Amino acid sequence: MIPALGLAVLVALPWMVADSFFLNAMILVFLFGTLASAWNLIGGYAGQLSFGHAVFFGLGAYTSTVLLSRHGVVPWVGGAVGAVLAAALSLAVGYPTFRLRRHFFALATLALGEIARITFLNWEYVGAAIGLYVPLQFRNRLSYLMWDAKPPYYLAALALGVLAVGVTAVVDRGRMGIYLRAINQDEDAARAVGLDTLRYKQWAMAVSAALTALAGTLYAQYVLYIDPYNVLTARISLLVVVIALIGGRGTVWGPVVGAAFIVLLSEYTRSTLGHLGQGYDYILFGLLIMLLALYEPRGAMGVVRRLRRRSPLPVAGAAKDRPPEAEAGPPTAEALLVARGMTKRFGGIVALDGVSLQVRRGEIVGVIGPNGAGKSTLFDCITGFQRPDAGTVEVGGLSLRHQPPHRIVHHGVVRTFQLLRIFPELTVRENLLVAQPHRAESPWAALRPSPREVEERAARWMRVVGLEGYRDVPAGELSYGQQKLLSLAMALMTGADVVLLDEPTAGVNPAVIQEVVACIRELNRGGQTFVVIEHNMEVIDALAHRVYFMADGRVLAEGTPQQVRQNPQVLEAYYGR
Ligand code: ADP
Ligand code: MG
Repeated sequence: MIPALGLAVLVALPWMVADSFFLNAMILVFLFGTLASAWNLIGGYAGQLSFGHAVFFGLGAYTSTVLLSRHGVVPWVGGAVGAVLAAALSLAVGYPTFRLRRHFFALATLALGEIARITFLNWEYVGAAIGLYVPLQFRNRLSYLMWDAKPPYYLAALALGVLAVGVTAVVDRGRMGIYLRAINQDEDAARAVGLDTLRYKQWAMAVSAALTALAGTLYAQYVLYIDPYNVLTARISLLVVVIALIGGRGTVWGPVVGAAFIVLLSEYTRSTLGHLGQGYDYILFGLLIMLLALYEPRGAMGVVRRLRRRSPLPVAGAAKDRPPEAEAGPPTAEALLVARGMTKRFGGIVALDGVSLQVRRGEIVGVIGPNGAGKSTLFDCITGFQRPDAGTVEVGGLSLRHQPPHRIVHHGVVRTFQLLRIFPELTVRENLLVAQPHRAESPWAALRPSPREVEERAARWMRVVGLEGYRDVPAGELSYGQQKLLSLAMALMTGADVVLLDEPTAGVNPAVIQEVVACIRELNRGGQTFVVIEHNMEVIDALAHRVYFMADGRVLAEGTPQQVRQNPQVLEAYYGR
């Protein structure tokens, strides 16, 4: 309702205020609002900081201008071609750098900006340093996006801004927004629950680049002259980042609020303080950013959010809804997960030295052993977070060799981390939604909210681990034990056949340990298979059908907890005799 009213006012504005200085400022607000919104998709939501967005802006401006001035192609088509080129370029940059850590991506975009500027400065076909004029003969025609007056440009820029905000709103409301924010907070944790993070980052990057290119085309049509100094400059790349950060990254309205604030401030300080020389606006931006960094890193939207701070935390959850007690059948004979001869070296350390492990469907297998035995490394190698030097892993007879972590989840093996990894700024519900099954999901499908049955599953797992009272609480505000329960629920939410738990009770108070144990046991009665790394022998006794004892990268004993306890090395490691 409020956005619709605001939009109506904005549409009517050029007929109420004819001042061309003001209209020009508003056109720039819409253009930079579009740019900052586009940047926000990859930089704000997904957390991959791009310092080269001027490249996509320039590509949009140059593509449509070259096509119009040399081939008479209307800018509608030229703009679309530019958007496709920008998306393709963004994928070419993102493909190698997204695999590295995020600062490499930032560096790559910075370099891309320089390369593009220098290339265009020396490229005769696009006018080199002299630039290109947009030919004027088609004025006052919508098909050529070229007018004598400001209001049509105003409306065109407004329309583009609405598109950018609309795309952001769709992302924000769909699963996509939750996934991108999860990637931003902990990419490995997102991969560990089956999310193809590379694909989602690429999607966000390509859409961001395409929107940015469209703004470039409109800008060229508006100023009718482009050169590398006005469309490929690092100033634009940086301004876009500043606007998004000041307005509030990772929010729908932040970039627009930031654009209105910064552009109007900049235009008016330039006109009132201009006689004092250049640079006053920059000093002001610098101060603003420092203030924000100190008091509200989430930008203007963070201030808004703080003002409407939600109600206090709920008290402890109601009675638990444990999964139905199925037949407490013994484990079946079917070998579900088989690892053979797993070997992993880190430099001179042999973390795994030919470890073999077999897990039958319906079993709870314990893995015990002193610190540094290689237990976590075994999980890393099974789940694709480390590539073993030798050895094979099969699940249900299918080899997992060289599969990335998210695929291994799709094949039915999920793990939790010894050092807890959840998404602290997402709510409990959102954490679970990140862990929904992703096997048949595309980024386009992820623009829709989660299906109802997925929400119901999430609600069910919240009840199972006793977190239903915390549905909309950021996971970072839960107690450590509750966070561990949440990570267990997330692993289960993936629907994997085998759940690998790395020290699920470590650091948890005794009451919660009982809860974790009860939860695992009842889920196992329902047929769920587990492999549990555990130091607490009471937990092992209560849970495990079979135990592997590891030390120095090898399995030294295997059998029921009672059998393994007879082993002299186990006695020494656990009971000091
Ligand atoms: P556990 O989980 O049984 O305590 P880990 O699997 O974590 O043992 O570690 C086994 C050995 O491998 C240790 O000596 C550890 O220092 C080493 N290690 C584990 N991960 C790495 C890594 N990423 N880089 C180098 N060394 C590692
Ligand atoms: Mg470990």
